[in-house]
Amino acid sequence: MKRKLILLPIICTFAISLNGCGHEHVWVDATCLVPKTCSECGETEGEVADHKWVEASCEKAKYCDVCGVTDGEPLSHEWLDATYEEPKTCSLCGLTEGEPLPTPYCIENNITFQNLQDMELPFAMDFTENGQIVDIEGMWLETEKAKFSFGEITSNPSEMEGYIDITIPYQVHFSATVYQDTNIYNGSYGWNLTFPKFSVGDYYTGLVVPDRSSYTGRGGSDFAEFTKDYEWNGNVYSIGYSNIEETSSSQSDWDYNENIAFKTYNFAADETYIITIPNDFDGAILYIKKNGSSEVHLGNDEVIEETEAHMLDEHEAEYYIFYRLSDIINN
Ligand SMILES: [Zn+2]
Ligand SMILES: [Zn+2]
Ligand SMILES: [Zn+2]
Repeated sequence: MKRKLILLPIICTFAISLNGCGHEHVWVDATCLVPKTCSECGETEGEVADHKWVEASCEKAKYCDVCGVTDGEPLSHEWLDATYEEPKTCSLCGLTEGEPLPTPYCIENNITFQNLQDMELPFAMDFTENGQIVDIEGMWLETEKAKFSFGEITSNPSEMEGYIDITIPYQVHFSATVYQDTNIYNGSYGWNLTFPKFSVGDYYTGLVVPDRSSYTGRGGSDFAEFTKDYEWNGNVYSIGYSNIEETSSSQSDWDYNENIAFKTYNFAADETYIITIPNDFDGAILYIKKNGSSEVHLGNDEVIEETEAHMLDEHEAEYYIFYRLSDIINN
């Protein structure tokens, strides 16, 4: 009895899985194109399945992996700006375009920038005779540091379209005392001095706008004489400047301390730098020697040099104080 009960369901199952042709269907799962289908006889069952969506990418819209139907639009690339290390890159798909940015000179050379503020720097003064620096026995001099005080920095549209003029006014005051040992020397003397001045250069290329002293003999303050064209990362721009200087000096009467005679010279220089740069340009650099002027430049026969000079051609960055004009204007 027990044996018969077990056999019955087995027979039933067998009968159901047979079709008219007498084969067992081999079902292939439904897709979005066809319902569940028997691969032997083609008989179908039920409905087609949902599409198998693949999410949209920057290049392709959302699409069905089976039938290829699309939905919507491709995403747009989300571009991250090029850096000094990486080119312009899509944050979604990683696609890159172009090259990394070329490293600006000032970054490559670890140049850091200061705020423009009142300061003191040494200046140089020497006795001279016939255009030469000379030692005079029985005479010497002592210099004080030159004091720089800055006026209001202004920015105005330039005559050159698309450019602005940044005006930086400042005064320099400095003094020196000349000593004469009257037992040794009692004659006349000449002197010359050099006080520190700013140079102008470009953050990106490190090139210097030729300085007025290198144009000795041409004179004047024509803008065109101090301008320089730069090319950087596909852009061409020019930086120019003019420097207006008015100097004055006064001297005390001789004073005496036994056989030592001494008098004090006071010097003042009114300086105005007008720096002309493209609107929104952030690459103009002012710089000055950290140790001021250590020797007198007579500059009688200085030659105009048209060769390109870099800001650090003479020394290392630590020898200078650098100011970035865009920082100064925005303060
Ligand atoms: Zn079948
Ligand atoms: Zn599909
Ligand atoms: Zn992308």
